[in-house]
Amino acid sequence: MDGAFQITTDWWSACARQMLLKTRTIEDKQVTRTAKRLPADLISAKNSIASDRISPLDSGMSIPSATDITRDLVRFNTINPPGHEKLCSDYLGALLLDAGFEVDSYQYGDERISLVARLAGTGGKKPICFGGHTDVVTLGNQAWSVEPFAGDIVDGRIYGRGTCDMKSGVAAFVHMGLRLAAEPRGAADIVLVMVAGEETGCDGSKHLQDLGVLPEAGAMVIAEPTSNYPVLGHRGALWLNVTAHGKTAHGSMPQLGDNAVYKAARAVSKLENFGFNVPPDSLLGSTTHNVGTFHGGININSVPDRASFTIDIRSIPGHRHDEIIADLARYLGGDVEIETVVDVAPVLTKADDPWVRDVFELMTPRLGTAPEPRGAPYFTDASALTPACGNPPTLILGPGDMALAHQTDEYCDVAMIEDAAEIYETIARRWCEA
Ligand SMILES: [Zn+2]
Repeated sequence: MDGAFQITTDWWSACARQMLLKTRTIEDKQVTRTAKRLPADLISAKNSIASDRISPLDSGMSIPSATDITRDLVRFNTINPPGHEKLCSDYLGALLLDAGFEVDSYQYGDERISLVARLAGTGGKKPICFGGHTDVVTLGNQAWSVEPFAGDIVDGRIYGRGTCDMKSGVAAFVHMGLRLAAEPRGAADIVLVMVAGEETGCDGSKHLQDLGVLPEAGAMVIAEPTSNYPVLGHRGALWLNVTAHGKTAHGSMPQLGDNAVYKAARAVSKLENFGFNVPPDSLLGSTTHNVGTFHGGININSVPDRASFTIDIRSIPGHRHDEIIADLARYLGGDVEIETVVDVAPVLTKADDPWVRDVFELMTPRLGTAPEPRGAPYFTDASALTPACGNPPTLILGPGDMALAHQTDEYCDVAMIEDAAEIYETIARRWCEA
C-alpha cells in the first residue's frame, strides 16, 4: 500500500472517541462546543490523510510536525467558493481538543466551520492570539504540473494549493499549540483562530466578529505568508460594484433607447484619471483603485439597458471608506449607482509598540539583522480579528513567499514551515511568561 494514502484507522478512531457533542446558542447562531463525532464522510475523507506518522492521540506518542499537518490540510479541497472547510476544521478541532484545548466551532454556511481553540493559562495576562484561514483560492486556468491536493514534497518544497496561502501558517501555529499543551500552563491563554472563508473578503472572521465570541487579546499574530518576516499591517480593501441603467431598444433604432454601456464607459474613463486627495502613509503608501471587470449588454442588436463594472480600492489607515464612496459618487455623478461588495479595514501597528519591539528583538538573530517596519500588499483576517479582539498589537508573520500565493504550482519551503513553528513557539512562550 502507498504509505501516503494508507488509512490511519487507529488515529481517527481515537479522534472519534475523544469527541463529544455539546451545543449552545449565541445570538440565535448555533455553536457547537468541541467537534462532534466524526461523520462517515470524514472517515472516508481520511483516505487522503498522510499516515506516515504516529498519532498524538495515542498517549505518549510524538506530535505531528508542522509539515505533516500542512500536508494533511492541503489534502482537504477547500477552494472558496464554495469553501466547504468543515472536514478541514474537524481535523484541526480533533487534534487540538485531544491535546487539551477547548475548541468551539462556529458554522456560518453549508459545510463551513470556523474554530476558536483556547489553551487556558493560569491567568493574570491577556491571551495571545494566532489567526489564519483554511480556505484556498481556485486553481486558476493554467494546468498544474503537480497534483494540487497531494501535498507532495520535492526538493525541500511542499507543493499544492494552500501550501503558501496559508495552510502552512495554520499548521505551524497548531503544531506550536500541540507542543505547548503538553507542558505546564503559562500565564496567558493561547487562542488559535482558524476561520473558514477569508479569500472572498474575510467572511469567516467577520462572522466571528459579529458573534462577539473572541476574547480581548494582548497580542495577535496572523500567519499569512511573509517569508517569516514580521509585518506591521496592510491596507484595507473596499470593493465596489458600479451599475449604470438605461433603456433598451432595437439596435437598428438606437435613438429610441438609452445606452447604459456608454454611461458606464464614461464613468470608467473618468476613473482612470481619478486620484484620492489624501497624503500617503509612510509605510503603506497611497490609497489606490483599479477597475477589475466590466460587463454590459446582452446581445449585439439591442441597446443595452444595464452595464456594470467593479472597482478594487485599497485604502490606507485614516482614509474612511464612507468618505471614499461619497467622493466617488460625487466624481462619477448621477449616471451610476455604487454598491459595496467587500469592506475590510486597514490594519497597522506602531513599530514602537512594546510587544512589537520584543518580537523584533526575538527575530533579529534569525534574520541576521533587526527587522525594519514593513507593510503587506494584501489584506488579511486581521481586518476583522484585530478589532474583534479589542485592537491588540498585530503582526502578520508566516511561512511562504507572498509572491507564490494564488499561483499555479504553489509551494512552500519545508524549512520555512518548521522555522515558523519555532518562531511562534518562541513568541508564545515569551508572552506567556509570568
Ligand atoms: Zn491568505
